[in-house]
Amino acid sequence: MRKVNKNFLIRPKSLGAFGAPYRKALGILNRNRSWSNQSTALYSSPSILESLNKIYDGKCAYCELIPQGSPLQVEHFRPKDKLAEDTSHTGYYWLAYEWSNLLLACSNCNSRKGNHFPIRFVPNRVITPTFKNGEICERHNYILNEPLKVESGMLLNPEIDDPQQHLVYSPVGKILDLTDRGGISIEIYDLNRDELYLNGRKKIIDEIYSKLFRVLNRYLKNNRHPEIVIEDIEDIINDMIVQPIVEKSSFTAFFKSLLLRFDLYIIDRFPQHNIKFLLRRAYRNVISE
Ligand SMILES: [Zn+2]
Repeated sequence: MRKVNKNFLIRPKSLGAFGAPYRKALGILNRNRSWSNQSTALYSSPSILESLNKIYDGKCAYCELIPQGSPLQVEHFRPKDKLAEDTSHTGYYWLAYEWSNLLLACSNCNSRKGNHFPIRFVPNRVITPTFKNGEICERHNYILNEPLKVESGMLLNPEIDDPQQHLVYSPVGKILDLTDRGGISIEIYDLNRDELYLNGRKKIIDEIYSKLFRVLNRYLKNNRHPEIVIEDIEDIINDMIVQPIVEKSSFTAFFKSLLLRFDLYIIDRFPQHNIKFLLRRAYRNVISE
């Protein structure tokens, strides 16, 4: 997961104050005082998906995967329907069309998160919006305002939180928690499921290691010139770590961590001192470019 920049005040046009379908949809929420299976067309309209895709570089907010096949979905950070943690709660239906509550998620993260929204201070759970002249007071909906802010949601939101403060990658690519919020987020978003960990991040580290191993093995056997080997190592680092960051491919937060801690993820796996020396030289050349 990585921090993204989203301006909550610049909303897609379809969620603007003068959009007729938006006003109509809010009117239905006002009358029903619950989600009641309203149409999803407004919050998942092409213009909202386009705005979110730009903000997220076409990646899932939670797992950072660019999914193959099934498209990314508009996800409600605070669930719009009955809460998993408290089924007597209507869900935050009044945030169904609130821009600051709409994220972009892959179908796997979306279904795992479902209607979960654990909070730190349970008595602070907001159970109803403020009404003004019989209508939902929209200022109440802004998620950085009280009272939503004082609920202290436990799940990480990449639009608000800096995931680096809460999550870290182990040397084999498993996501570990640095805080209790990190731990709950790993569990609910299932950030170490096979497609992300064993078939994702760990596989990437193993592939980089194997490629380097082959090059370095050739060097040891054939007595190749160290400068040529260093260039080969630089190419591998550039192709397999730097390029995915530049191209904003899946898992960029992980690739950045890999580049920053190349010693921990890769160099430490090679026991020979002469090999470590070559890897360090190549690494320093790449990061000084
Ligand atoms: Zn995901």
